[in-house]
Amino acid sequence: MKRFAYDSPNDAIAALAAPLAPVDVQHDCRDLLGRVLACSIVADRDHPAADVSAMDGYALAMRRPANSGEIHCNEEIPVTGESIPGSPPPDFSDFGVIRIFTGGMVPAGCDRVIQREYTIESTGGDSMPLGTVRWRAEAKLTQPAANIRGRGENIEAGEEALPPGVVVRAPQVAAIASFGVESASVRRRVRIAIITTGDELGRIDSPTNETLPPWKIRNSNAHALRAIVTPRPYVNPPTMLHAPDEPEQLKQVVSDAVADHDIVLLTGGVSMGDHDYVPKVVSEIGAQTVFHKLPLRPGKPILGALYHVPDSATAKPIIGLPGNPVSATMGAVRFALPLIDKLAGITHWEPNPPSIMLDEIGTKTLHLHWMRAVRMTGPGTAELVVGKGSGDLVSLGASDGFIEMPPTAHHPGPWPFFAW
Ligand code: AMP
Ligand code: MG
Repeated sequence: MKRFAYDSPNDAIAALAAPLAPVDVQHDCRDLLGRVLACSIVADRDHPAADVSAMDGYALAMRRPANSGEIHCNEEIPVTGESIPGSPPPDFSDFGVIRIFTGGMVPAGCDRVIQREYTIESTGGDSMPLGTVRWRAEAKLTQPAANIRGRGENIEAGEEALPPGVVVRAPQVAAIASFGVESASVRRRVRIAIITTGDELGRIDSPTNETLPPWKIRNSNAHALRAIVTPRPYVNPPTMLHAPDEPEQLKQVVSDAVADHDIVLLTGGVSMGDHDYVPKVVSEIGAQTVFHKLPLRPGKPILGALYHVPDSATAKPIIGLPGNPVSATMGAVRFALPLIDKLAGITHWEPNPPSIMLDEIGTKTLHLHWMRAVRMTGPGTAELVVGKGSGDLVSLGASDGFIEMPPTAHHPGPWPFFAW
């Protein structure tokens, strides 16, 4: 019999993700920053809306008499008009050139812009109030269409500027503003429940500096998991819950959480101890256990389940993370974030971590996938932060994230890097 249902974290994540559908659509959303688009954003006009100059310089038509098909240096050419951004272009006369500024509209008939650096400008007299120019030798190199951003070269009216399934961040905001979009359909925010378990924990709502007897601990996982999910702008503030190590109460908390949320994250109670009720409770509420235990350190006892909502195509992931702070935080980043992104409706939800190289590898190898805390030492390089085990949240605080090495690996990388 296979020891583990899945050989790798990626396979386990894929199995949980497979049946997940994006959360519902919310129409006519006006405040789009941080939201996941559920529709295309369509250009309402060509971009650029006209042929515009990409340079400060002079617009001209090579075939016109003033240029007679080629650039003649030393010839004084009158400037017959100016094209200034924000104003319609002047008419273009057969004799002369148009002074044009970056973003100014290229007058009809002009076929290129010669940049200002390639000219010698003179002030004209009363008969030529805009002055004259002569071309420098470099001007001869200016090709047809040079320095002109063609109308619609970025996109034409009616084309898709942004597809559904992208998160609206600064560049998308720019596109949305550019195409006059007032409101759009987005995915509603993902609802997350975070449940801590364990009789050793102080009350979740007690002040952080509460004094505890030595047989109690502060609930750091609640804060850490909230800190992991909250920076995602497309999630609601998570619902923070706690259950004691008592199966009936835990069952109530878990089944209520599943009813009202899209994903449920638990910490603690997932191993083989006498007080570890999470696996039993998860199956008792009718969820399907997809894996329990993975070849992973830290976090080997991790549990992944799916709750299939009756009479609906909706599936909700439940992730049972071990209580140890290092397992809980690394596990949440590794397993919960991609599933949240898929639920949020993000097309490219699959983790695509950057790679880093270790400065030194150490001597040890493991027959497990190994998540190891690291601190960045330079661009693309990091050193291991060696802690005292999966309870050592003090060492964890000195790390920038973690790498994941496959079983028996023993070389400096490159390794996928998951930043905090
Ligand atoms: P468990 O997975 O329930 O066996 O918990 C393992 C260890 O993790 C416990 O002995 C605690 O020291 C620690 N632990 C469990 N839950 C939390 C929590 N919410 N915050 C901080 N530490 C925790
Ligand atoms: Mg426990």
